[in-house]
Amino acid sequence: MEKIRRTDIAFLLNDAEGTFVGQIVNVRGWVRTKRGNKFVGFVALNDGSCLATIQIVFDFAKMDESILDRVHSGASISVNGELVESQGSGQRFEIKAVEMELLGEANPDEYPIQPKKHSLEFLRENAHLRFRTSTFSAVFRIRHHMIFAIHKFFNDKGFYNVHTPIVTGSDAEGAGEMFQVTTLDLHKIPYNEEGNIDFSKDFFGKATNLTVSGQLEAELAALALSKVYTFGPTFRAENSNTTRHLAEFWMIEPEVAFADIEDNMDLAEDMLKYVIRYALEYCMDELVFLSQRLQDEEKSKPQNERSPMELIEKLRFVADNEFVRTTYTEAIDILKNSKANQKKQFQFPIEEWGADLQSEHERYLVEKHFQKPVILTNYPKDIKAFYMKLNDDGNTVRAMDILFPGIGEIVGGSQREERYDALVGRMREMHIPEAEMSWYLDTRKFGTVPHAGYGLGFERLMLFVTGMGNIRDVIPFPRTPKNAEF
Ligand code: ATP
Ligand code: MN
Repeated sequence: MEKIRRTDIAFLLNDAEGTFVGQIVNVRGWVRTKRGNKFVGFVALNDGSCLATIQIVFDFAKMDESILDRVHSGASISVNGELVESQGSGQRFEIKAVEMELLGEANPDEYPIQPKKHSLEFLRENAHLRFRTSTFSAVFRIRHHMIFAIHKFFNDKGFYNVHTPIVTGSDAEGAGEMFQVTTLDLHKIPYNEEGNIDFSKDFFGKATNLTVSGQLEAELAALALSKVYTFGPTFRAENSNTTRHLAEFWMIEPEVAFADIEDNMDLAEDMLKYVIRYALEYCMDELVFLSQRLQDEEKSKPQNERSPMELIEKLRFVADNEFVRTTYTEAIDILKNSKANQKKQFQFPIEEWGADLQSEHERYLVEKHFQKPVILTNYPKDIKAFYMKLNDDGNTVRAMDILFPGIGEIVGGSQREERYDALVGRMREMHIPEAEMSWYLDTRKFGTVPHAGYGLGFERLMLFVTGMGNIRDVIPFPRTPKNAEF
């Protein structure tokens, strides 16, 4: 076969002027479907560069019919052919094949991804091949664009990206159960004289874990570079098998010096709106496809469980409307007096101020009461981390959580406690060893300044933007309890 440089299918299909019509091009990809009769064959070819497939037409008067016999869904092929305006409906261009090479066969009796609707559960079990479907290739293309948009947003605002450690020696990050990291032989654990595990024999000479958050280290950087953000993997060993929790997920954590909680809310709201608008601008084909998919799914749901807004409409709504800003105390009043609470419809009834909000409460506030994204501030200090700045009332801290429809908490943040004495006081109350955290306390000793930041769970954002219902379907290889295949 004549060697011609490969062209992305997206490049050919998106070329509005049709500059390449009449030229011989080469495309390579995976066969989605094949059909035809004894005169002519049609292959829908996808190379992942875009959602659409390009139609390849085989004219058997000019080409050998037998070469198509081994081409099935999932097979990889390389085709040289002429780009022509399509006569059929549904596509503008197609390729009239001149030559074809079968690169890799896919035995139809064994290949799991057939051209029909597969359940998401089935595709999760075949996560190694699910990239080949329209749904997952759409999700993962959007994922790429969202990563890029986040870096662009912060870069354009003068933030510096910092890499914070993945293996951490502090267990005071306080955000959840941690995974231990060790090279000790679990069959021959060394013990010290007190009968405790002797971590001085371990790789780092101390007990270490996988990080649950890069915040504490990001704070160190912010107190010199002023505006920083991390975007890295975080790990939580919580045994929560929900559609919103992963054991390994990616988190964006900006940290800003000379900023207070108001600045923090503005930054988070701006960022969320920016990346949503970015998706609307750069991922429209994927969003239209995912919206259609969702609408088909909604039809099989009872009326009262259907989402009130179509995906793209919902994204526009969030991008164009101000988020509601209110306090935890106000939220508790609303929840306490709600019909849902009085009729005992919450799994965790709200009885008094101080209760931790569960996802059902967060979703009630967003979806039923305000019908807009909500930023809740000033939470009771007892349900929040030690580093949040104490308000003058002595009971609440300057926390801010952003709650989104269908998800609940998407962002958790706060103004940080920058006063040395107040911070040490909170650490003692919460039994956090000061000695181990001396490096953190040093920033409050030397040139401390007010500062604030937050954590955005990247996969929670992905759930919202794609409309997918399960967090396992927006990360390529999900890690959840009892599940680390692939
Ligand atoms: P939740 O109460 O929903 O479990 P959290 O309060 O433990 O979350 P934070 O410690 O505030 O979460 O983490 C910041 C952000 O990281 C959250 O707002 C959320 O978007 C995301 N996040 C937290 N835990 C997980 C998880 N297990 N899987 C995916 N994303 C998560
Ligand atoms: Mn939180």
